[in-house]
Amino acid sequence: MSFSLLPERKFRSVVDITPEVLRDLGVELLILDVDNTIAPYKTLTLEEPVTAWARGMKAAGIGLFIVSNNKGQRPEVFAKLLDVPYIKRAGKPSPRGVREALARTGTPPERAALAGDQIYTDTVAANLAGVRMLLVEPIKFTNIFLAVRYFFELPFRREKPQKRSASI
Ligand SMILES: [Mg+2]
Repeated sequence: MSFSLLPERKFRSVVDITPEVLRDLGVELLILDVDNTIAPYKTLTLEEPVTAWARGMKAAGIGLFIVSNNKGQRPEVFAKLLDVPYIKRAGKPSPRGVREALARTGTPPERAALAGDQIYTDTVAANLAGVRMLLVEPIKFTNIFLAVRYFFELPFRREKPQKRSASI
């Protein structure tokens, strides 16, 4: 797989990622970033649309796995709320946490995708691990640094050119 900072697909919110989208991509395991992907920074609760979305994914046979750089209690709290496995202190952009999620679920990289909001951590980690990147818009800019970083990510916040197959 060639290295690119462009995501495979992008979405306004994680809840806009549907089982149908994942099925079309051949994805069985969706690896989830935490901060600003499934919840804004610092909160210890998940909004109902997110928990409902996660239930729908699991009902559709899509595995979920939290891989977060967060060092606090949030990854574990959210993993319990969603009843999914988790890795914290993942050290993205290192692919270590993503690879561990693949290994623990026995999923080949081409059957997995990472949903996250940041280019220089999430997209890079996904690429290095050989999984597809599904970029979401950050839920909330809680400080100026997040807004500044977002500005520098703009060139990479567009989808890869899609290779459409000629068949039907
Ligand atoms: Mg994030």
